[in-house]
Amino acid sequence: MPEHVVIIGSGPAGWSAAIYAARANLHPLVFEGAVIEENRVAGTLPLGQLNLTTEVENYPGFPKGKLEAYLASALSPERLAEEFPKGLDPHPHAVTGPELMNLMRQQAVNFGTKIVTDDVVSLDFSKQPYKLNTLEGQTVEALTVIIATGARANYLGLPSEEKYKNRGVSACAVCDGAVPRFRNKPLVVVGGGDSAVEEATFLTKYASMVHMLMRRDVFRASKIMQDRARSNPKISIHHFREVDEVLGDDKNGVTGVRMRDNQKGGTVDLPASGLFLAIGHTPNTDFLKGQVALNEKGYIKYTTPMRTYTSVEGVFAAGDVADDYYRQAVTSAGTGCMAALDAERFLAAKGL
Ligand code: NAP
Repeated sequence: MPEHVVIIGSGPAGWSAAIYAARANLHPLVFEGAVIEENRVAGTLPLGQLNLTTEVENYPGFPKGKLEAYLASALSPERLAEEFPKGLDPHPHAVTGPELMNLMRQQAVNFGTKIVTDDVVSLDFSKQPYKLNTLEGQTVEALTVIIATGARANYLGLPSEEKYKNRGVSACAVCDGAVPRFRNKPLVVVGGGDSAVEEATFLTKYASMVHMLMRRDVFRASKIMQDRARSNPKISIHHFREVDEVLGDDKNGVTGVRMRDNQKGGTVDLPASGLFLAIGHTPNTDFLKGQVALNEKGYIKYTTPMRTYTSVEGVFAAGDVADDYYRQAVTSAGTGCMAALDAERFLAAKGL
């Protein structure tokens, strides 16, 4: 029997879709992504990008407070031990990304969501029921599919950047910033958007100085974030600067960044023990291989305003995989809910 609703992806969009579909008795099946990083063909990350962050201050319903007891009562002891081996973060503060995502997952589980820890690597949307093939060789048939595979961080594409990945080069300050190699050392953040400011601000907790490199004369970040960067004495802002090369050696990993003045030419070597990229994201749509219409940036195209419809009937999209504009946890959760309602109505209309 084909599944009624298959959801690909396990960020806020995926779990919100699952909660709604499960409560509608559609017994959704979620592909939450492969756990082993090298295996992640679709680019999905179990629990999504939020699982890489610390505090989430703007997800409604979670003001700063003592969440430990609630988390301990909501999640199973096994899940707590697996996901938080060092114990829960000492509160009070806002909910953290991993806490929020585990709560969402649990809520979906509580209503009967089925979960497969695997990646969908190819699919066939040419006829109903749709076929989805996984990395581990499983094939699942589905009457409706909700694609919620999110987006991933971009890199500059320099060979030296590739060479020092995980040895000082990172695209996630929050995940990697606290390691000893970055403590009391100068660091470099590339980008001028909200993420870059957020990463640079976070890194000032550990670094002696954070250099922000922007290729233009202006930030892309919101005014409040710009002010935050400018007023932080540990952030040094460099406009019209690009990275020519990541400097380093086998023993120490990253030791510096060669930055180029893209107006006047010439380079300067900045000593730094880390380079953090915050230059936007790429949607995880490669695995769709022409099965669903994408926009010019590779994001899934919605075909109808205020609906999650894609170019394929019965296939819906939710979250960052179809959103290069808002990209917020709460907007992802919102479109996840919409996609589940759209799937439910599609099935009802077809009498399925
Ligand atoms: P973004 O707004 O697209 O900014 C990307 C930045 O990277 C821009 O400064 C861009 O420069 C630069 N860039 C891109 N490619 C580059 C390259 N090859 N070399 C050098 N620089 C490059 O992306 P984002 O900062 O990740 O933010 C994405 C969305 O999430 C936004 O809507 C943002 O508001 C939101 N967000 C919000 C918060 C918050 O409110 N707390 C935090 C994080 C993100 P140019 O400007 O020159 O193109």
